[in-house]
Amino acid sequence: MNTELLLEGLQQLSDFQARWHAYEVDETLRMPAEKAREVITQLVERLHDNYPFWHPSYAGQMLKPPHEIASIAYFLAQQINPNNHALDGGPATAKMETEVMAELARLFRFTEYLGHLTSSGTIANLEALWVARNLHRDKAIAYSSEAHYTHSRMCEVIGAKGVEIASDHQGRMDLEDLQAKLETGAIGTVVMTAGTTALGAIDPIFAALELKKKYDFRIHVDGAYGGFFKLLQIADSPLLGEQEALAYSSIAACDSLVIDPHKHGLQPYGCGAVLFRDPTVGRFYKHDSPYTYFTSSELHLGEISLECSRAGAAAAALWATLQCFPLQGIEKGLGAILSKTRQAALEWAKLITASEELRLLAQPSLDIVTFFPKLEDNRVSAISEVTHRVFSELMNDTQHPIYLAKMNAKPHLLAEHADLIWDAPMLTVFRSVLMKPEHLQYVPQLHQRVLEALKHD
Ligand SMILES: *Cc1c(COP(=O)(O)O)cnc(C)c1O
Repeated sequence: MNTELLLEGLQQLSDFQARWHAYEVDETLRMPAEKAREVITQLVERLHDNYPFWHPSYAGQMLKPPHEIASIAYFLAQQINPNNHALDGGPATAKMETEVMAELARLFRFTEYLGHLTSSGTIANLEALWVARNLHRDKAIAYSSEAHYTHSRMCEVIGAKGVEIASDHQGRMDLEDLQAKLETGAIGTVVMTAGTTALGAIDPIFAALELKKKYDFRIHVDGAYGGFFKLLQIADSPLLGEQEALAYSSIAACDSLVIDPHKHGLQPYGCGAVLFRDPTVGRFYKHDSPYTYFTSSELHLGEISLECSRAGAAAAALWATLQCFPLQGIEKGLGAILSKTRQAALEWAKLITASEELRLLAQPSLDIVTFFPKLEDNRVSAISEVTHRVFSELMNDTQHPIYLAKMNAKPHLLAEHADLIWDAPMLTVFRSVLMKPEHLQYVPQLHQRVLEALKHD
């Protein structure tokens, strides 16, 4: 952490705060310095009970700390603690929120839009589904079997029927099944995932848009994880496959989009975002709050959001981050970071494909690599057992632990691996989310360590 920058910021902030008439902090708020120190020491000790999410040896789940510019901006804004529910709750951070939403909208070429930050991808998706349900009152919402589990849950919350669409062996939505279900006329909205949580697969968004010519339905894109990889979609980029690039360019024509800055936007938790291509959906949010709006006639963020209180600090953090890491191509800013995470996945996939000891489950579309041991024994139970053992051995190494994640893969994801013997309902595979640009340098080590651990059988 750049403590110098933090202290400078704090000094500038306290100069500002000192402009008000001096007052005494009430005695009920004071605490003995000794107690505070003791509690912080205890806190840090308790925080030891974590995996090293910041370190490249952690290549497991979708977890990493925010960039320090985000942390510092968040901490400084939090000293004032503006509430982005209303313009009057935090005029400065509300403006920053409007600015970062404009940048997100520009990235996805939503020319007109309505959008705001949320406290998470789940809430952002909930809003998009709630609007979708209001537009197609009696129709169902469809999502693939690989979609995030919260979609079916949120359908329950809003009282909409959820319909599951099959997915193919790469974890993408199966178009034939989608068309068959659209044919029933019962589906009003289709959720297409750009970057599934398990495999990072990109649903065929372009093809779904083609189906819109024949059937009347909305398309909501869940880019909570993969949204920012839109930055890699530039002409002749070797980093995205053709289908994936086509899907990203098609998002501009979809009805709504969710993207999580707290996943790949370098932000601390508490930062999702939702965008609607038709700003008139704002009418569904209309309500009369008797107490919050009295000093401004401008549109309040609270008037276009399901949530009430939201951290203005989250908008400040994202604003500051995008100043330093702009959303512009792959040469600089956030795109340069994502291009390394993507290259890391390509690199590891190449090593796995060339190896005698491991097999890829599917070619990675983004920065998530899934693989499993190649054994003489082709029983799924035997392979899973080795995966479990190697996973724990690497994690519990006392010298130099390595942290991967595991995933239970259903048979359809392994349709290409015809030699597997299914003596168990699922195959446990390794899943590694290479979210940090440092992973590009680290991949050969990760690979080597997995191979070494495999030899211990
Ligand atoms: C993480 C994720 C979500 C949920 O977002 P949260 O911010 O964790 O609530 C939804 N969809 C996808 C594809 C995700 O990866």
